[in-house]
Amino acid sequence: MLNSGGSGTPWTRCGQVATERRPPVSGRAIAALDGGVRVIDPLGVPVERARAAIESIHDRQCVARVIDDGVSGEWVGERPELGLTALAMFAGTMTLVDERVAGRARVGFNPQDAKHHAARDRSAGFCVFNDMVWAALELERQGLRPLYLDWDIHAGDGVEHLLADTGIPTLSIHGHSTFPLDPATIDVAAAGEGRRHTRHDSARAIYKWDLDVGDGDEHLLQALEEARAIIDAYRPGVILLAAGADGLVGSPLGTGTYTQAGFVAAAGVVAELAARHSEGRVLVGGAGGYQPRTETPRAWANVVGMLHAWLDAADADLSLDAAALNRAATATTAEVTR
Ligand SMILES: [Zn+2]
Repeated sequence: MLNSGGSGTPWTRCGQVATERRPPVSGRAIAALDGGVRVIDPLGVPVERARAAIESIHDRQCVARVIDDGVSGEWVGERPELGLTALAMFAGTMTLVDERVAGRARVGFNPQDAKHHAARDRSAGFCVFNDMVWAALELERQGLRPLYLDWDIHAGDGVEHLLADTGIPTLSIHGHSTFPLDPATIDVAAAGEGRRHTRHDSARAIYKWDLDVGDGDEHLLQALEEARAIIDAYRPGVILLAAGADGLVGSPLGTGTYTQAGFVAAAGVVAELAARHSEGRVLVGGAGGYQPRTETPRAWANVVGMLHAWLDAADADLSLDAAALNRAATATTAEVTR
């Protein structure tokens, strides 16, 4: 679990900004989990190390424009404090990866993680620096065999493009009629006809489920069932999960009709896969969510709570009876997040 508060000498400016401007969503998600979590200050990562990591993913001139000049396509004018906030958000994911590599965490959650639209040479869709790409490459370098799974309602196009041909699988379940509407990412003809479809390229380890407008839990879970076979075959050592909450029914920037119960069930699938393949290792990023005072923190708490509950139940039941663990963990999660 990761929070954006705190301060450290090299990060004082970032820390102040994050504390003052932090949306209520992070605190609400943490509060909903009601204990059992360790909140980690992300700002212990040296600025120089964080910047070097960002520059390993993005064009150096673009990085300088954001961090040094405070300029990005995601906001208007020169806003150096926002550039430093983007840097701090990325550093938060670095902190979680450090915790993972050091073996100090099983399920890690950064609500400001999974900025999945950011490309090498530009920001996009509220995403400035692509932290999940860095995390995947770093975990691969550490020998942990990562796999990226994304159920934000918007396609994880930036992660897909930046990890293509690295051998690290990217799986994205998203709506076909909403941002980014990229012909390289979706089948425009199929989307125009309102057909849900898949676009898999197994040779490049790219897997995509393009859902229709109004699709709900049934379709999310069906896609996850199909993803299960791919994940079982790959046997990841850590699952990177972009747990966007913007596919929820009523979300102002989404086309889905997922429910909180659907996210709990989806998290149960991920927990089962993580227990089977990765000793429970899951790094969760918040990705998108546009109901910050209500449904978004609840969705994130449900997902992280279900992962914790399922894996805790599995620790106590070595038979790994998935159905029984699902029932037990769902009941516990409902208690935590009601
Ligand atoms: Zn989104």
